[in-house]
Amino acid sequence: MYISEPVQILNDVFGYKSFRPLQGEIVEAVARGEDRLAIMPTGAGKSLCYQVPALARPGTALVISPLVALMQDQVRALREAGVAAAALTGATAMDERRDIWNALEQGTLDLLYVAPERATMPDFQDRIGRADLALIAIDEAHCVSEWGHDFRPDYRQLRPLCDRFPGVPRIGLTATADAMTQADIAQQLGIDADKVVVAGFDRPNITYHVRAGDSRTRQLMDFLNGRRGRAGIVYAPTRAKVDAIAAQLQAAGLNALPYHAGLDAETRSANQAAFVAGDDMIMVATVAFGMGIDKPDVRFVAHMALPKSIEAYYQETGRAGRDGAPAEAVMWWGAADIARARSQLAEGESSEERRRIDEGKLNALAAYAASAACRRIALLTYFGEPAPAPCGNCDNCLEPPTQVDVSEDAVKLLSA
Ligand code: ADP
Ligand code: MG
Repeated sequence: MYISEPVQILNDVFGYKSFRPLQGEIVEAVARGEDRLAIMPTGAGKSLCYQVPALARPGTALVISPLVALMQDQVRALREAGVAAAALTGATAMDERRDIWNALEQGTLDLLYVAPERATMPDFQDRIGRADLALIAIDEAHCVSEWGHDFRPDYRQLRPLCDRFPGVPRIGLTATADAMTQADIAQQLGIDADKVVVAGFDRPNITYHVRAGDSRTRQLMDFLNGRRGRAGIVYAPTRAKVDAIAAQLQAAGLNALPYHAGLDAETRSANQAAFVAGDDMIMVATVAFGMGIDKPDVRFVAHMALPKSIEAYYQETGRAGRDGAPAEAVMWWGAADIARARSQLAEGESSEERRRIDEGKLNALAAYAASAACRRIALLTYFGEPAPAPCGNCDNCLEPPTQVDVSEDAVKLLSA
């Protein structure tokens, strides 16, 4: 398939009327042959950023993606839209493998998805080296950076692969990278710093509150009593706390259920299903809960302690208000949280370098929590997005703090 106009491809192939903000800009640039690193939240529409240029440019787009299940979903959807797409995985049968290579050599394949392990194999590289590539897309590009939260050594081999194709545009895509990680990804992939595009991290309908947690159970009860009948998630730091809080809420007549990795799979999926189906359920959970859960009407997310990073906090609070209606994120914390998290880091088996990075991320979250400035400005700045004016929709904007509470202790700990 070869149509040159991106917007026509968007209409005719994908059936969408217009590009989302920044999508069009990225598509145009890559279609012209320029590199981009796109940092956009989950659901923003990163796939089209490389799928449309893949069709706009002659040759095959090589897409690096770390998850076989994800590749297969994408290939299925593309084929339904009439696009010649394929995934080359360990599970690909011999004859299909041969068809893929034939199509690639004849230039009749639009997109080829492969995992990074395969992309870095010498015989794959030799064969792909004879193909005419439209572009190279690297999905989940944060995996290339040790500063990111999911470093994968195979991603480091992608740079030499890209370098074998000078003049072929490369596009990295990720949802989760703070400003420092973004710069590192760009450098690792050989994408110029001025080709980094950061988009759309603001969640204007979420009101952020961060409070000193001096008696957290009572604070949680007060909060929930004012919000009866609404669905929400309460994140607690340990399985034992999850069980205890869920029992307390149930005893208080609230519709609460626990979720953590210590529960058997059946209970977990029953509790999750009840939460998704209900409109007044409270899920008390560890971080094990949330990934891939599609419930638009979560009205609040409460944190009973500091999570481990701003990325984690942003991702977890981001489960509130997907429907765009007003929602709240509340977190109770104290200096003891930092001490607990630090000792967990010290006990971990990770490298010295990893510990240093994790500690930096924890400190950044503590500084956010202790800050008296607009929460939204702090979050967006952390993700490298141009900061807006003070939002008027967070605790520090709504009720500017008049005194320092936990922050004094925290500052002492931070500078320790
Ligand atoms: P991401 O990878 O950023 O998490 P996806 O690429 O999976 O997001 O896209 C999320 C959803 O948004 C998909 O259902 C996709 O079809 C839809 N989408 C993307 N771009 C557009 C658009 N321009 N118009 C309408 N829907 C879009
Ligand atoms: Mg994606």
